[in-house]
Formats: sequence, C-alpha cells, structure tokens
Amino acid sequence: MTSDQQSNRTMKVRCCIVGGGPAGMMLGYLLGRAGIEVVVLEKHADFFRDFRGDTVHPSTLQVMDELGLIDGFLKLPHQRLQKMDGLFGGTPVRIADLSRLHTKYPFIAFMPQWDFLNFLREAGRRFTSLKVMMSTEAVDLIRRGETVAGVRARTPEGIIDIEADLTIACDGRHSTVRERAGLAVEEIGAPMDVLWFRAGRRPDETENVFARVEPGKMMITFDRGDYWQCAYVIAKGQFDAVKARGLTALLDDVVRMAPILKSGIADVKSFDDIKLLTVAINRLTRWTRPGLLLIGDAAHAMSPVGGVGVNLAVQDAVATANLLADELQHGCPSENELDAVRRRREFPVKMTQRMQVVVQNNIISGALLGSDRPLKVPLIVRLITALPWLQGIPARLLALGVRPEHVQSKAAPPS
Ligand SMILES: Cc1cc2nc3c(=O)[nH]c(=O)nc-3n(C[C@H](O)[C@H](O)[C@H](O)COP(=O)(O)OP(=O)(O)OC[C@H]3O[C@@H](n4cnc5c(N)ncnc54)[C@H](O)[C@@H]3O)c2cc1C
Repeated sequence: MTSDQQSNRTMKVRCCIVGGGPAGMMLGYLLGRAGIEVVVLEKHADFFRDFRGDTVHPSTLQVMDELGLIDGFLKLPHQRLQKMDGLFGGTPVRIADLSRLHTKYPFIAFMPQWDFLNFLREAGRRFTSLKVMMSTEAVDLIRRGETVAGVRARTPEGIIDIEADLTIACDGRHSTVRERAGLAVEEIGAPMDVLWFRAGRRPDETENVFARVEPGKMMITFDRGDYWQCAYVIAKGQFDAVKARGLTALLDDVVRMAPILKSGIADVKSFDDIKLLTVAINRLTRWTRPGLLLIGDAAHAMSPVGGVGVNLAVQDAVATANLLADELQHGCPSENELDAVRRRREFPVKMTQRMQVVVQNNIISGALLGSDRPLKVPLIVRLITALPWLQGIPARLLALGVRPEHVQSKAAPPS
C-alpha cells in the first residue's frame, strides 16, 4: 500500500454491510429496526443506474406489509402484472397466472429498482443506529488473525477503515469481499447474455406480451411508463458477432419480434445505447468465515430467468435478520451461528437455480442455438397454456418462491 492510500480515518460498528442492492438495503433496514448499530456501504453515489432487476414479487410485497411499509410503497408509480403471457414462435402462450394465488398481493409490481432502494433508504432514516454511506467502496478486508474484523473502504474523502464485529457481504455477483475472503465459487453456467436498451413509448402503446421467443432470438420488454425497457437475449459471448452484423440488422430483428417498438426504437442510435449484461449462475459452498457472512448474489448469482433474483436477495436478508439479530445485540455470532443462514437458505437457492437451469437448457438454449426451423412450443408450456388450473403452479413458484420468509426479527422500542 502506498502512503497516500494509507488509512487515517477509522470507525467502529457492530455490523458492516457491503453493498446497497436489494439484499444490503433490506438487511440494513431490518438491523436498524432492531436497534443494531449498522452501516451500509454503497460504492455508487446513488441507486439510479440503468440496470437493476425491476420485479417486486408477492413474497417481497408480503415482507413490506409485515414491516408496515406497504401502503407508502404501493403509492410509488408501478405497473401490476398478474398474467404472464408470451409469444413462442408466434404462438401465444401463458406462463403463469398470479390471480389464482391465495395471497394478499397476487401480482408482480414492476417498479424501477432505484425507487425501491430509495424507498428503503428513506424509510430507514428514522433508525438512529442505521447509517448508509454512499460513494463508499469496500476495497479490502481487515483481518485479526483468521477473523474478518471489518473492511477498508474508498470514499471521496480518502480511505477509511470500518471495524465491525460482523461484516456481511451483499456486493453482488462480482463481489470484492468474496474474492478477498478467498471463497471458492461453484460455477453452474448460463448459455446466454443480455443486451439491455430503452425504446421510447407513446402513452397509447400498451401490450400484455412481455416475453417473445423465436428461432435464434428471445426478448423481454418491460413497460416503464415513458419507455420500454428491452432485454434482448443472445447466446453467451456472441456480442461481437451481433456487432459485426451491424446495428440495423439487430434493430430490424427486434422490431420484427416486437412491432410495438417500431417508432421508439429510433432512440437506439448506436451500440453505445446498448449495454451488455453478462449472465451467471453460481454459488458458494461456504457462505461464512469467522466474522463474515455473504448473502444475495454475492453468495449465489441468479440468472434473470423468472426475474426472482431480487426477491431471493430480500428473502436472504429477512432470514439473516431473523436468525442473527438477537445474537448481534451482544456481539458477533460464532461462525456456526452465522452458517445458520446458509442452512436455512441453501435449499431455496438450489431449487430456484435448478429451475433456472431447466428453463435455460430446455427453452433458451433450444431457441438461441437452434436453426431457423419453426419453434415447437415445449410440452410443459403447452400444458400450462391449455389447462388454466396448472397456471397456479408456476405462479406460486415465481410469486412466493421456495420456503418464503416472514419477518420475525423484533423492532427495538423507539428511543
Ligand atoms: C441480465 C439480468 C437481468 C436480471 N433481471 C432481473 C429481474 O428482472 N428481476 C429480478 O428479481 N432479478 C433479476 N436479475 C437478478 C438480480 O439482478 C440479482 O439476483 C439481484 O440484483 C441480487 O441482489 P443483491 O442485493 O444480492 O446484489 P446486487 O443487486 O448486485 O447489488 C449489489 C450492490 O453492491 C454494490 N457494490 C458492489 N461492490 C461493492 C463494493 N466493493 N463496495 C460497496 N458497494 C459495492 C453495487 O453497486 C450494488 O448496488 C437479473 C440478472 C441479470 C444478470
């Protein structure tokens, strides 16, 4: 370390959360609510970035309800989705119908994720023990022997050492903490990447179809009010080949699949307006070190299939607070106590990733890597479309996930 990088500032907290995504902001809220001295570090200056999963599923809406936050939350602009319809090789299919669920919030709320994160941040301001530090990037771990004792972070004012009894990494699929802790990642793999771009939307443009699959192509569109957020799926590593074909060829394909984008696609003027999002599915076998726990995508990167990653991250946060908040009142839980989070959450993660892999292997790979022959709608999709009562099963898996969590951690009495 050079002398100008040397830390001259330190702070000490009970718990340091690295990463202000869905896992980190929800966990910060829950621990702040429990009266635990906690700091959340987010490397960006705000939450306003183009790519963030935008789907808030019934399991997360239920958590917001249990926290007494739902009324304010649902006042934020959002669209509600109950029936998930798609076009598979031109054939209309129904993937799920959430109106069949016996749950308090039987819909997916589509809301820009920065609104969700800002809402949690604002709601958490009332907890004096919670501090959110933006523009603060964890760059290394502080160690005391074998134990992780906090993080070293870069801020606009320079380096700061944040000493913590417990560090929780919620820093996503490219986790710096995971890498510094030397935890081995089991790669499961994904056959695709995603091109992410916006196309303008006129007020009179509405459409229920949100997924389209054709030979060699796949696309999802999200209605974000004044624009369509488009996710165009390509075979892994093929972005250079797409570029070599040229922008016009790509946009022609897009409009052929989704004619509703015909006028708005003019917003995409060059490849600079298109972001490549690399998709990964992986997981850790060990989620802990003494003094350290990893949750959310840092522990198990989720594919976009089903749009469930945000909700899994929130569920991890709820489980972490349920299992550890009491112990954290007194100090750092032992590694075995920290590992209770993995023991609780590993099964839902594995089941969900398994389902994502089944969809990847049976539908996405076939569509992307297949020839130009007409696509056959897979039997399971045909059955679900034809038998409405079956639509409740994928709806339940998507909406509530496996082993949904409920808030059990206690709120500290107001000070
Ligand atoms: C192409 C694609 C589309 C997807 N679409 C959806 C969808 O529609 N719905 C859905 O539910 N899921 C979706 N997912 C999955 C979803 O994005 C993740 O599962 C989810 O975001 C995980 O939340 P998290 O809080 O664990 O991590 P993240 O959301 O990745 O948040 C990590 C946070 O940590 C911050 N950070 C990173 N490093 C540091 C550091 N060193 N110091 C401080 N801060 C740091 C980052 O800036 C970020 O804010 C998609 C995934 C992909 C790849």
